[in-house]
Parts: sequence; structure tokens; C-alpha cells
Amino acid sequence: MKVLVAVKRVVDYNVKVRVKADHSGVDLANVKMSMNPFCEIAVEEAVRLKEKGVASEIVVVSVGPSGAQEQLRTALALGADRAVLVESNDELNSLAVAKALKALVDKEQPQLVILGKQAIDSDNNQTGQMLAALTGYAQGTFASRVEVAGSKVNVTREIDGGLQTVALNLPAIVTTDLRLNEPRYASLPNIMKAKKKPLEFLPPDVLGISTASTVKTLKVEAPAARSAGIKVKSVAELVEKLKNEAKVI
Ligand code: AMP
Repeated sequence: MKVLVAVKRVVDYNVKVRVKADHSGVDLANVKMSMNPFCEIAVEEAVRLKEKGVASEIVVVSVGPSGAQEQLRTALALGADRAVLVESNDELNSLAVAKALKALVDKEQPQLVILGKQAIDSDNNQTGQMLAALTGYAQGTFASRVEVAGSKVNVTREIDGGLQTVALNLPAIVTTDLRLNEPRYASLPNIMKAKKKPLEFLPPDVLGISTASTVKTLKVEAPAARSAGIKVKSVAELVEKLKNEAKVI
């Protein structure tokens, strides 16, 4: 079974992001970039499926600038077999990425596509669902357990009221939640081996798609600084302040 995993290059989760002086976006100069944490979980799940003998090949794909090769090499070091970069310097939105992934699904014909549930830079939580709509494949989002059984995949999902298990016919799309697994670290020998694994560059036009955005960012602003809180002595004082100072009740 071929598994396709989508990985996004994002600002590392330890970095405190700064807005550019001209408010055109987030400052990426000299900022540490990493694989989106939910995508690391997606790669780990695919590698575990391969180790169990369920997956035969893992293809990782990123849509984005040439720098995303770094995250693809990391995925190769973690156990993916080959990588594809759909190279684009456009401001990408989820639909453009989902269309690029759909074109790749048509080309590669994977039985399972694993994505993160969301990218920590935009927090969109859209791409997997959009890809499911474009391909017509079944979707199991926010997976905390994935079990392939014959021509089906059982996905246990985290929902507000607890856990729900859905049985999807393959080919299917799964998006990963935090508790699905704990990703491994790449070992030095595997990092070295990954340098020799194939990484293909596919311009969007070769895939017959455009990644041009239909959304334009007008202005990016940092959230307002929070003022310090206060302690009240009684419920009556709290109610009085909510009523007369904050004017929220
Ligand atoms: P989002 O819908 O943007 O929150 O992203 C959800 C998931 O879609 C990510 O965890 C990735 O698996 C995938 N994804 C989003 N953007 C990209 C991208 N530019 N390249 C590859 N995969 C992506």
C-alpha cells in the first residue's frame, strides 16, 4: 500500500513570531523553520505502518518554496522513501495546497493520504478536508488511532464528547491529532542516508494546476498586549466590576 504524507514548512514552535514593520506579514528573516508538528506525527504514523508491513512505500510531499527541501529531507531521514516538492513562492492558501495535493494523488494513486490536522502557522485546519472533497475519498480527521484492516481503515477520532471510531473504505484521507503517536528523532546515520533518497521537483504547471492565491493579505498585526489582571475579594465585587467596569454583564 502506497502512503502519501503532506508536510508543511512552518516557523518552529519555539520561536516567538514578530510582525514585520510594514505589517505585510510575519518576519521570517533568520527565523528557525521546522516541519509542522502535526506533520511529524503524520510521517511517524506512515513509518509505523511500513514497519508493520502494511505500507510498502511512503511518499512525502510539500508545497512551497525551495527551502521546504529541508523538511522533506527530515521526513526522508525519519523513514519516508522518496519526496516531492511542488515548488511555489506564492502566498499559499489551503485550497491551493489541496488542489496541488489532488493533482499529486491523481499521479501517485496512494491508498492512504496522511496530513496534519492543522498547520501551526495559519491554524487553518482545512487542507485535509478540502482534499477529501476534491478527491471524493473518505476522511477521518483528528485521528488518535489508525488501524488498516483489509480494504478499510478504522480511524478513532477525538471529538468534543469523547472518542468516535469511523470505518473508511480505502483510498482514504486521515488527519493526525496530537495523541496519535510520539514522533521519533532522526538518527545521524539516517540523516546521512536521506541525502541519497530521491527528491523530485514538480512545478505546479507540470501538474496542470496554479498555486496563485485567491486570498490577499491586507495587513498583519500583533495581538494587543494583555494588561495585568487583578484579584477580587468576593463574588459581589467581581459582579460589580463586570457590570460597571468591564460592562460585560
Ligand atoms: P492547514 O489546513 O493549513 O491547517 O494544514 C493542515 C495540514 O495540511 C498540514 O498539517 C499538512 O499536512 C497539510 N499542508 C498544509 N499546507 C501544506 C503545504 N504547503 N505543503 C504540504 N502540506 C501542507
